[in-house]
Amino acid sequence: MSGSTETGAGGAADVAVSVRAVDRTYQLAQPVHALRDVSFDLPRGSYTAVMGPSGSGKSTLMNLIGCLDTPTAGRLVVNERDVTRLSERERTRLRGEEIGFVFQTFNLMPRLTALQNVALPMVARDASRSERTERARHLLEQVGLGDRLDHLPNELSGGQRQRVAIARALVNDPTLLLADEPTGNVDTKTGDTIMRLFSELHAAGNTLLVVTHERRIGEHADRILHLLDGRLERIEVVESPRRPAVEAPIDDDPEGN
Ligand code: ADP
Ligand code: MG
Repeated sequence: MSGSTETGAGGAADVAVSVRAVDRTYQLAQPVHALRDVSFDLPRGSYTAVMGPSGSGKSTLMNLIGCLDTPTAGRLVVNERDVTRLSERERTRLRGEEIGFVFQTFNLMPRLTALQNVALPMVARDASRSERTERARHLLEQVGLGDRLDHLPNELSGGQRQRVAIARALVNDPTLLLADEPTGNVDTKTGDTIMRLFSELHAAGNTLLVVTHERRIGEHADRILHLLDGRLERIEVVESPRRPAVEAPIDDDPEGN
């Protein structure tokens, strides 16, 4: 199962995600074809953006790759496992251990502090409470929130909440980071901080897939997948991707709060 040889699941080791002829139809009174016949690969370590108008299927695609949902037809392989053949429990495990998911609306637990929110996905792991706290604290410091550890989500600005959500997505050290409009609800400066963090994660060898409706954000990636009406219309290669300077210090309070 090493090198680029095909494995039993049909995915090569140097491919993080393989999407083949995937459909996702929502069965309503009128069936909604959210995705139709979508095929592409995400090579390991690649940085890819997804763009397209509202309703074009971007979130549906992210939910499938993030193992929150399964295709109606086609084949989806994540880290050499055919997720359409996994049980719900196996999918949950794959998601928890190998995938980090950042939602547009943060999805933080309202009654947990920033530190507790970040530490939460580690509970299933074989780590002591102090190890979990230490790791969560370290990640929050990395995203510039070392002085907000004990704040509840409603005591944080939108940009700070999104940075907590990113720290949470990274806590189990995923190899695949999925972000659905991560800069959609934050100001430009926080957006820049997030994109700098993503560039660092890419430089460290992670595979990134980022949904955005902003061209400027999409141009951080090596390739842009353009969705239209549930179809993959084209794959654009970004000639010279934006790569923010990583040595710039993180502004602790970019919104001036
Ligand atoms: P995007 O993220 O690009 O805005 P979505 O993936 O959220 O698009 O939605 C694609 C299409 O699928 C839309 O027409 C939307 O209304 C429909 N859709 C999304 N989620 C559901 C759902 N849970 N049930 C029924 N239809 C859905
Ligand atoms: Mg969406």
